[in-house]
Amino acid sequence: MKTIRWTIALSLLLGGAVEMARAQEAVTDEALFRDAIQTLASDEFGGRKPLSVHEKLTVDYIADRFKSLGLSPGNDGSYFQPVPLLTVGTQIRKNEIAVSGRKGSATLKPLSDFILWSHRTDRNIRLAKAEYVFVGFGINAPEYGWNDYEGIDMKGKIAVILVNDPGYYDDNLFRGKNMTYYGRWTYKFEEANRQGAAGAFVIHDTGPASYDWTVVQNSWAGKNLGLYSDREVLAFKGWLSNDATKLLFDKAGSSYDQSFAAAQKKGFKSFTLALRSTIELTNDARIENSSNVAGLIPGTDLKDEYIIYSAHWDHFGIGITIDGDSIYNGASDNASGVAGLMVIANRFNQLPQRPRRSILFLALTGEESGLLGAEYYATHPIFPVAKTVINLNMDSYAPRHRTRDIVLGGAGESDTDNYVIEAAATQGRSVRVPASQTSGGYFRADHFSFAKAGIPVVVASGGNDYLDPAGVEEQNVTLGQRSNYHKPSDEYHSWWNVGGSLDDIYLLYGIGLRLSNDGYFPKWNEGVPFKKVREESLK
Ligand SMILES: [Zn+2]
Repeated sequence: MKTIRWTIALSLLLGGAVEMARAQEAVTDEALFRDAIQTLASDEFGGRKPLSVHEKLTVDYIADRFKSLGLSPGNDGSYFQPVPLLTVGTQIRKNEIAVSGRKGSATLKPLSDFILWSHRTDRNIRLAKAEYVFVGFGINAPEYGWNDYEGIDMKGKIAVILVNDPGYYDDNLFRGKNMTYYGRWTYKFEEANRQGAAGAFVIHDTGPASYDWTVVQNSWAGKNLGLYSDREVLAFKGWLSNDATKLLFDKAGSSYDQSFAAAQKKGFKSFTLALRSTIELTNDARIENSSNVAGLIPGTDLKDEYIIYSAHWDHFGIGITIDGDSIYNGASDNASGVAGLMVIANRFNQLPQRPRRSILFLALTGEESGLLGAEYYATHPIFPVAKTVINLNMDSYAPRHRTRDIVLGGAGESDTDNYVIEAAATQGRSVRVPASQTSGGYFRADHFSFAKAGIPVVVASGGNDYLDPAGVEEQNVTLGQRSNYHKPSDEYHSWWNVGGSLDDIYLLYGIGLRLSNDGYFPKWNEGVPFKKVREESLK
């Protein structure tokens, strides 16, 4: 009897000790987390724009922190991976596009009718009397039995492309309202380039694009950062406003409405519009190195296999003044994700023994300009893609209150879902799958570049079943209902609640820790386009 009592007392005592140790860890982690956000989001760091004077300050700080947290240099003795970024200033002759069609001519003006940019490095480009081809959604997707480019030679021609995918209009096509990658504008340009087109315009439409024309104007006016590729065939990429598109079809003597309806049906045939333009561009191109920051915890018996934790360090720098402030501090977006890397690195570093697999920590550049640092890593990996087990990415992880639920993005894409569900269970949290993702949010963060390279990913974070709804309400009011997105007011405040941030960071830590020791390679599910890419890379 006495012995049993003692056992219970002892286990209570031990349990209490474990709880206390956990609380201790959380205190250290929270201090580490807040300190990194506060530093990176300070005015001194100037909004962390790639290639600016503030880049060096930022990447040096991250490398220093990696070093002090016990990480080894991740890239052949260095903490840095140079990322050649291409900056192109493009001018169109006369600052207009003249079109002549079967039913007359018209002149299109930049900003109001179209937005155009180039990722080519040649100084002068001339498209002489180029034809326009309406290619519907501009999709070549064998797994859906769909090819808008069937039998069309795009050489020297301008592709005019619908935004989103056919599922937006017909639930029985593609994945219905759940947008596939074929619906993203990034895909449209990639495919037009593969088809050898001379130029590509995506037609803007507020519904299926999920943002209005002013967002297109603000996002692309003067936007010219890209990755250099010697396979860039397109002289230009751009957007056409809905009104300008209708005008073009009129001048060609074609009905836009009928063409639009036809493009939504399986078996649609792309066609050449009776319309031509001569477009002359002058490019002022420069290539300069930005940096991804890489820190490594070498594994033991499986050290040649890698788990990647990532977060982008860049933001918009100093820009248009809003409410008297011109520094885009990016505290939430994404000083918080980089701070998450520090917390996870600290956890791994405190382990009594090293993990079997190696853990790579990547702070990535150029996310805000189109996932550039991630894209560069995925196509110029430090360690083989085939030996890369998983990517766990953090973007905008604070402020965040604690929740009972976790929202799983890209559910059903791979068997990493089980890892999320089980890691959530150890936190006493449940996993929820969002009803639909019309806006294609899944394709808008760095993890997507890893997925495209075939590397399985996890996209999971706290939902809205809050432990303290009143606290959330109070914080939202103070924050101004999240209106700080991509604004100078995205700043760090000591009153931020980060309880949910730490929970979500520990969730990713738990998944990576388990995979670092169990030796399993997660797999994409049947019918997911990345599955084929993965299988090719493993050959
Ligand atoms: Zn952002």
